[in-house]
Amino acid sequence: MTQRLYYSDSHISEFTATVTSCTPKNGVWEVILDQTAFFPGGGGQEPDSGLIGGVAAKGAGEAGEDVLHLTEAPLSVGETVKCSIDWNARFDRMQQHSGEHILSGILHSLYGVENVGFHMGEEDVVVDFSAWLTPEQLEDAAMRVNRAIWENVPVTQSFPAPEELDALTYRSKLDLRENVRIVTVEGYDTCACCAPHVKRTGEVGLLILLGSSKLRGGVRVHMLAGRLALEKLLRRSEQTRLISNLFSVPPEDTAAAAAKYAASHEALVYDHVALRRKLLQETLSSLTSTEGNLLLFEQALPTADLRDAVNHMVTLANGISAAFSGSDDTGYSYVMGANTDLLSRKAKEINVPLQGRGGGRGSRIEGSLKASREEIEAFFADYRLDREANK
Ligand SMILES: [Zn+2]
Repeated sequence: MTQRLYYSDSHISEFTATVTSCTPKNGVWEVILDQTAFFPGGGGQEPDSGLIGGVAAKGAGEAGEDVLHLTEAPLSVGETVKCSIDWNARFDRMQQHSGEHILSGILHSLYGVENVGFHMGEEDVVVDFSAWLTPEQLEDAAMRVNRAIWENVPVTQSFPAPEELDALTYRSKLDLRENVRIVTVEGYDTCACCAPHVKRTGEVGLLILLGSSKLRGGVRVHMLAGRLALEKLLRRSEQTRLISNLFSVPPEDTAAAAAKYAASHEALVYDHVALRRKLLQETLSSLTSTEGNLLLFEQALPTADLRDAVNHMVTLANGISAAFSGSDDTGYSYVMGANTDLLSRKAKEINVPLQGRGGGRGSRIEGSLKASREEIEAFFADYRLDREANK
């Protein structure tokens, strides 16, 4: 049976232990020690990594009452080895996990909701609750969590006897009676949990909410605590500083400045569209009648404007009226029209040589072409709709 040092002291990062077993398995070794500070994982918390006798090791789970460690090299049974866990990673996880307990405890006592899911991800910690809570309720709870952190109350753990457990009110995902480990945040939470936690709430540092969403009748909350929360806030603060420089306003006024900028941008786009349409009208009015095909090239016209242009062009041309938007680099979208319903039957005849696709009904077709402007112009210089149609 491995003595679990993290139960009596969650802050042990270095220890010595005796190797009691070492078994090769799938290219690594399963090592059992007489005692360990490596948390093997569980309760939503990842296992610890570190060194055992100078060999890289990862907590790997449990075998009965033993903790398994996976090592990259074999260790000698009976040898006493120096061990260390990756303390920074462990402390990050304890900050998240203890922070989650305080949040869940507070939400449970305020609204009776149960924590039904807990996952520590790379970017955030996800906590699921059994009933819907509004963003305002969650923000209020987060502020209470931070007050609990400032109060720096003790976080303790115990293994109550079954009869003591019966008398205890605590949060639990499982209905166990034996060896139930109870983690208590004084005044805020009592919960069954197997993982190592901070010793006092002050170590959590801070807790922030990153967002929430509906989830099967409940709510999914994204949070961060401790160093990870601080680093997230600092990254966001840097973004705010950059935006504040761009707009030349104090950081507190960036949202208002961005909203003002968006409104003026929208007005400019509106003006731009109006001007572009005016220009198009001028271009169209400068076109003259032709017995052949009539082409119009524009850089960026929406399809609706291409259609309007073609509706005007068909009054001038006996052949095909074709309006293109785009460039040789991006290709062209097109609308084509004629004074005959035969046009749509000719779509393939036009698309294929110009590497295009599209079609339509009757006297109008729409689509896109990959051919260059020069190739398009050369094609329509020779193409005669009437002659082709009479075949
Ligand atoms: Zn827990």
